[in-house]
Amino acid sequence: MSNATGLYCATCDTTIPESEFQMKCRQCDSPFEVRYDLEKIKTALLNRNPAGLTESSLLMWKDILPIDNPEHIHRVSIGESQTPLVRSTSLCKEIGIEDLRFKLEMGPTLSLKDRGTSLCALKALELGYDTLCVASSGNNAASVAAYAAKAGLPAVVFIQKDTAPAKIYKMLSYGARVVRIDGDMRAAGKLCGEMLERHRWMQAGGPNPYRITAKRTAAYEIVQQSGGTAPDAVVFPCGGSAGMFAAYTGFLEMLEMGLIDAMPRLIGIQLAACDPVTQAFDKGLDEITPVEKKPSFSDALMNNNPYWGKQAIRAARETGGLFLSVPDEEVADMIRKLGSTEGLFAEPAGAVAVAGLKKMMAENRLSGLQRVVCTLTGHGLNAPTAAFGSQSLPEVVSPDVDTVEAYLNL
Ligand SMILES: [Zn+2]
Repeated sequence: MSNATGLYCATCDTTIPESEFQMKCRQCDSPFEVRYDLEKIKTALLNRNPAGLTESSLLMWKDILPIDNPEHIHRVSIGESQTPLVRSTSLCKEIGIEDLRFKLEMGPTLSLKDRGTSLCALKALELGYDTLCVASSGNNAASVAAYAAKAGLPAVVFIQKDTAPAKIYKMLSYGARVVRIDGDMRAAGKLCGEMLERHRWMQAGGPNPYRITAKRTAAYEIVQQSGGTAPDAVVFPCGGSAGMFAAYTGFLEMLEMGLIDAMPRLIGIQLAACDPVTQAFDKGLDEITPVEKKPSFSDALMNNNPYWGKQAIRAARETGGLFLSVPDEEVADMIRKLGSTEGLFAEPAGAVAVAGLKKMMAENRLSGLQRVVCTLTGHGLNAPTAAFGSQSLPEVVSPDVDTVEAYLNL
């Protein structure tokens, strides 16, 4: 049996057993959280031998996940594993952070979404759901498509019409039914919700408590990879803002168990073209007001009605962090810098975190930060031309040494 004790609604204090799984609380319509016996988790973590647990991150973190039968993990696993924490050698100096590390949250489908969808697929099998679905700006839909394929479940994904073709081809290659709607994320989410009223599908996005509880394993990994301590701050790209809130719950558990001494400051970065959470944070508000999106070179993070924005604001406020937004040009510049100075290819939705950290430091918004982790949540191949715009490919040169030396100015 897992160390989970049930699904808990923090708004009205209702707890239900996992066997009665619902996406949201029937009493008050708030999202459920998976709650755990922290004493059991602490004992398991302190006594485990991580050797042999590297096959899947679900297996590696089974003690902190609601997994009753670890032997079923192979039915959904497609190679999701602990993600690297890479130390910066160049941008750390430019940004002014002594110890800057990049958490490369790029799973088998090249984004952070695989942490959440792998567990959703496993729980869909356990609970007897016949289809996985999601409303997504792209990366989550591709991830759901892949894990549904592995689990032998159909996938129906609702995406906005301007989703990047590279992501759509991923969904198609995994065999998903792709519904490309004439509308934004708000419309896609509403449609997905209406479909759930008519069909016994599991939504592997939005309020799904399994997605959030699985994403919090990133926080545990950061602490483990940092020698058992939490960094001074962790920076997250924020669209729907689930990743930042999930990490907050993970760090909070570790603090309660005495596994870390203090919470890291949690910092959320949004694209200026669509930043409803930053706007609410700056105004001191708790509730998010949906915004009209402005044009952007990114399709990801462009969530004008983020489901977890309210909780992410709480995470920032309670840890002494903040939210800020950066314009497209600064993100494009950071994509090129990450590539040319750190050897990392990130899509706009990942590079935005580093661009935001640079802006935050330049504006002296926070001080005393020596150890910072920046999460890069999507591989550059998800939007390969984003930072290059209409720039043409290099000219074709004759395969002749003199010509090539002249071309290279040697
Ligand atoms: Zn409730």
